[in-house]
Amino acid sequence: MEHIFAGNPLDRGDVVRRDESLILINSQNPNARYLIMKDLNPLVNSEINHLKISWKTFAEVSEILSSKNDEKIIFLGSKNKNDFFVINVNKQNDKFSNSKEKFFDSREVATQLSPGESGILAQARAQLIWHNKTRFCSSCGNKTISYRGGQVRQCSECKMEHFPRTDPVAIMLVYNGENCILGQTRARQRKGFYSCLAGFIDQGESIEEAVKREVKEESGLLVDNIVYHSSQPWPFPSSLMIGCHARAITEEIVFDEEEMSDVKWFSKTEVELAIKEQSTKINIPGPVAIAHHLIKSWVNGEVSVK
Ligand SMILES: [Zn+2]
Repeated sequence: MEHIFAGNPLDRGDVVRRDESLILINSQNPNARYLIMKDLNPLVNSEINHLKISWKTFAEVSEILSSKNDEKIIFLGSKNKNDFFVINVNKQNDKFSNSKEKFFDSREVATQLSPGESGILAQARAQLIWHNKTRFCSSCGNKTISYRGGQVRQCSECKMEHFPRTDPVAIMLVYNGENCILGQTRARQRKGFYSCLAGFIDQGESIEEAVKREVKEESGLLVDNIVYHSSQPWPFPSSLMIGCHARAITEEIVFDEEEMSDVKWFSKTEVELAIKEQSTKINIPGPVAIAHHLIKSWVNGEVSVK
């Protein structure tokens, strides 16, 4: 299945990116379209029934581009002879907000954009964060310079190349029979908010090993039957959520109290109510998050057992 923040329709143009002057020429073409972001949130047109990214032409952003001498253009990709770019206007006066166009919170607006535009937003947001964090070489500490339309930054001194990074996260619904495990992290200790267990995949670790380790660390349970479900780009800041189901082979929960404020078994009936937002006991993530779909597919009996 395709989640929100997936479904980016752009051709990322690996060949075009090799020609720096061509990217510059394309960026000034009347067909070029610019996504404007401020504080990592997109400029969105809210005049019509559904929300849409408010794409700008080169003429509309040329003044801003000429004032950004220290940064090169970030090229997102192409579609139907249009080239798409993103620019960050944090330091500019807010000349883009008006009665029809506003900067919307990325997470909140994503559910209201078309799937394609939420995918472009994910790419643009993660790119801006990476550029901001990679201004200096992690090997020698000197300045880096952006090339290939923003797909690489090279150190001005030692010439090391740095590439945009994506951090894989294993997220899993653990179940056994008619019950499943949901947890509440210390970071999200909102009353009644429970979700799937999750954690970053470690170096030298497979997805299956990460699922086993995270479930053990967060709940004390052992699992088998680890089955991949789907994945979701999650640009907060640059994760790839890898969704799995796993069957518990032990019952007793012993959770990590530093990381988790609660981990519990829930019945399918209770979780089904929570999906429909009718539970009086728990809230679970909405459809924007892969966790919602992992839970829902288990409730609907769609999890295969090896
Ligand atoms: Zn360096």
